[in-house]
Amino acid sequence: MSGGAGFIGSHLCEALLNKGMRVLALDNFITGAPANLKSLEGKPDFDFRKANVNERIQVEGDVRYVLHFASPASPPQYDANPIHTLKVGTLGTMNMLGLARAKSATFLLASTSEVYGDPLVHPQPETYWGNVNPIGPRGCYDEAKRCAEAFAMAYHRAHQVDTRIIRIFNTHGPRMQVSDGRAVPNFMAQAIRGEPLTVYGDGSQTRSLCYVSDLVRGVLAVLEQGDELPVNLGNPHEVTMLQLAKTIIDLAGSKSVIEHRELPVDDPKQRQPDISRARNMLGWEPRIGLEEGLAKTLEYFRAVV
Ligand code: NAD
Ligand code: UDP
Repeated sequence: MSGGAGFIGSHLCEALLNKGMRVLALDNFITGAPANLKSLEGKPDFDFRKANVNERIQVEGDVRYVLHFASPASPPQYDANPIHTLKVGTLGTMNMLGLARAKSATFLLASTSEVYGDPLVHPQPETYWGNVNPIGPRGCYDEAKRCAEAFAMAYHRAHQVDTRIIRIFNTHGPRMQVSDGRAVPNFMAQAIRGEPLTVYGDGSQTRSLCYVSDLVRGVLAVLEQGDELPVNLGNPHEVTMLQLAKTIIDLAGSKSVIEHRELPVDDPKQRQPDISRARNMLGWEPRIGLEEGLAKTLEYFRAVV
């Protein structure tokens, strides 16, 4: 799998190993870290290779699944690496699909709710085509992922590759980078340090947060029981960013106050997955509630901040 040293990728490596599979993780550490793979070091069925999947990939032997999770994922990180982000969604996806085709493997793409852009349909079903600004600061990520989905469908149609597309909604958990700039890491680090929580705009914009173990269960279900069409994976429990900041202050028992900052350009106003397709096709739905999940993530942040 690509992106194995990242936040979600490292949890997925663990889950695949726990299912008795042999795992090869490829990562160039642009946003991931060797520390994320610490628990896997020395496991006989786990292998790591430092590699940039935007370049040619060669893997010896049989491969059953090819999972493409490599990509910067937080707005400040893809804003800082826009060309790399475009390449990993396009060239990286093409290379990983080429590997899947050569090995007759099942391919899975980690796509995103960002393909819906600033959505005009709410909640978002997979049938919604989205409202994306291709030339704004988020365009490098959103359009790369949309192109990645088109690549997956093209390899499926032209070369009969067995493909999967998951559209991941905001996910949190241990091993998120403290400084990746996303709302959960920012708010948690700020609450723990007693600094003001930086809510962008008036904080009325919404997101729906999924705990990582629920997401990983969903990924495994899609691999085994999914089809080539996109599946939303996320928790439908929707909150405003102001509510999220207040909840994190309460959970942390922090004295931090809330300060408002400028809203980033093209920041989606609302986001909630319609997970009917995942429910019907996979029998999957999240089990971890918002506060329960945030408490687990906070425990991790307390150890690393
Ligand atoms: P992350 O930054 O922690 O992980 C991404 C990993 O990919 C990192 O380890 C990075 O070093 C690696 N990578 C990037 N470009 C690479 C390249 N060219 N070659 C090899 N490795 C490369 O981010 P994450 O939150 O774990 O996200 C993982 C995937 O899930 C991404 O594709 C992201 O778009 C998708 N996703 C995540 C979320 C979320 O809420 N976390 C939401 C939607 C989609
Ligand atoms: N956000 C915020 N304060 C922060 C970081 C983010 O208010 O310190 C807001 C951001 O503007 C967005 C929401 O939180 O509306 C979620 O941002 P994140 O970067 O976590 O994810 P994404 O925008 O990709 O969904």
